[in-house]
Amino acid sequence: MKGSSHALIGITAGAFAGYQVQPDLYTIAIASAVGGVSALVPDLDTNGLASNRITVSKQITQWLMQLVGAGILVAIIYQYFTKGFNPSILLYAGIGLLFFIVSRFITQRRMLTLTGVMVMWLGIVMHQSIGILFVGSYIVIASFLSHRSYTHSFLGLAFYAFILNQLQQESQIDVLLIAGIAGYASHLIADMKIFPMNRRGVKWFAPIWNKEW
Ligand SMILES: [Zn+2]
Repeated sequence: MKGSSHALIGITAGAFAGYQVQPDLYTIAIASAVGGVSALVPDLDTNGLASNRITVSKQITQWLMQLVGAGILVAIIYQYFTKGFNPSILLYAGIGLLFFIVSRFITQRRMLTLTGVMVMWLGIVMHQSIGILFVGSYIVIASFLSHRSYTHSFLGLAFYAFILNQLQQESQIDVLLIAGIAGYASHLIADMKIFPMNRRGVKWFAPIWNKEW
C-alpha cells in the first residue's frame, strides 16, 4: 500500500480516536495529524516513501557531504599557507576525506541510520528529552530491520506506544498516545493479508510466532 493511502487511513483513525477523548475541533485536528504521521512510521523499514520523507534525497545528501568535505579541505590548505603546519591539520584532513568516501558509498538505509543518530543527539543535547531520544532510537533500529518484520508487529506497536507515552508526559498533549496508537495500528491492519491487494501479511506475534496474517 502506498504511503499516501496509509496516511489517509491514519488521519481518519486519529480523528476518530481524538473524538473519543474530547469532541472539539482542536483536539480532533491534533489527533488527525498525529494519526497520519504515525501511520507512516511502520514503513521506516523500507527504502520507500516514508524513509524519503525523513531523510533528504540521496543526491542532495551526497552533494552536501561533498561540500562539507571540500570546505574542510579548503580550510586546512588555507591554514597551512597562512599559519604553517600543525599536527591537528592531519586530523581535519582525515575528516574531510572521510566525508568524500562516505558520500560515495552511503545507502538510503545508512542515511536513515544517520538521521536516527542525529535525532537522538538532538534529544539529549538540545532538548534533554528522553522521548526524542527514543524516537531517534526507533529510527536507528528500523533502519537495520527487514521490511515488514518487527515494526509490523505487536512488539513494534508496544515500543511505539512506549515512546508516545514518554512524549505525552513531556509535551502535555493528552491525545498523543491514543491517536498515535490508532494511526500506527491502522497501518498494520491495512497491511494484513485479509485484504486482496496485500500479497504479504503482517507477523503480529514476531519474533515468538512468525505466522503472517
Ligand atoms: Zn507497511
